[in-house]
Amino acid sequence: MKLLFLGSPGVGKGTYAQVMTKALNIPHISTGDLLRNETQKDTKLSKEIEETMNQGGLVSDKILLQLIKTRIKEEDCENGFILDGFPRTKNQAEELGKLTGITHVLNFKANDEVIIERLSGRIICKNCKTIFHKTGNKPKIENTCDKCGSELHQREDDKPESVKKRLKIYKEKTEPLITHYNDKGLLVEITINKPISEIREKVILEIKSYLEGKTDKIGEIK
Ligand code: AMP
Repeated sequence: MKLLFLGSPGVGKGTYAQVMTKALNIPHISTGDLLRNETQKDTKLSKEIEETMNQGGLVSDKILLQLIKTRIKEEDCENGFILDGFPRTKNQAEELGKLTGITHVLNFKANDEVIIERLSGRIICKNCKTIFHKTGNKPKIENTCDKCGSELHQREDDKPESVKKRLKIYKEKTEPLITHYNDKGLLVEITINKPISEIREKVILEIKSYLEGKTDKIGEIK
C-alpha cells in the first residue's frame, strides 16, 4: 500500500500520518522531517536548506528527489509507505511516478479557521518530531513530549510571515496535484475539523475501511 497524504500546510496531515503509520504498520515518510534532519549537518548545503525552510519556500526538486529515492529503497518500505509533504509540485509528482506507483491519495481538508488555529498552536518534539497542539492535542506535561520526554517547540516556519508564504505556495504549486491524482482515479477527500484527540479511533476506522475497499468515499469525519 503506497499512500500519499495531500493537503494544505496545517491541515493536520502529519498528525494523521503519525496515527496511520502505527495502524497500518507501514513507515511514515515526511519530507519536512527528512529535510529538518539534513539541516542538522554542518555543511553549506544544509544551511541553504534551513534558510529556505525557515522562510517557508520550497527546497529544490533535485534535493527532494534524491532524498525520496534513497528513502523508499529502504527495507521497511517493502510493504509500502505513507508519503507526507511529497510531492509538492507537478514536476515532483511526475518524477515520483517514474520511481514508483502510488495506490491511494488522501486529500485532507479542514475549514480555513481550523487550519489557521492548527498552524498557530502547533508544537513539535525537538527530538522525535511528535506533533502536539497548545490547546487541541496537548502533551500530558506542559512543553514535554509524551513519547520521549524531550522539549517541545514551535517550528520556525510556523511563525506568521512564513505561514503566509507557505499557504501561497501551496495554492499555486501543490493544489493542482489534486486534479492530477483525481484524473488518475486515485484521490479521496477526507475532512477533519475536530481535534485528533477526540476522533482518533474514528479516523483510523474510516481510513482503514476505505483502504480495504469497503467504502468508496470518506467525506467529513465527525
Ligand atoms: P512540512 O514539514 O511538510 O510542512 O515541510 C516543511 C518545509 O520543508 C516546507 O515548507 C519546505 O520548505 C520543505 N519541504 C518539505 N517537503 C518539500 C517538498 N516536497 N518540496 C520542496 N520543499 C519541501
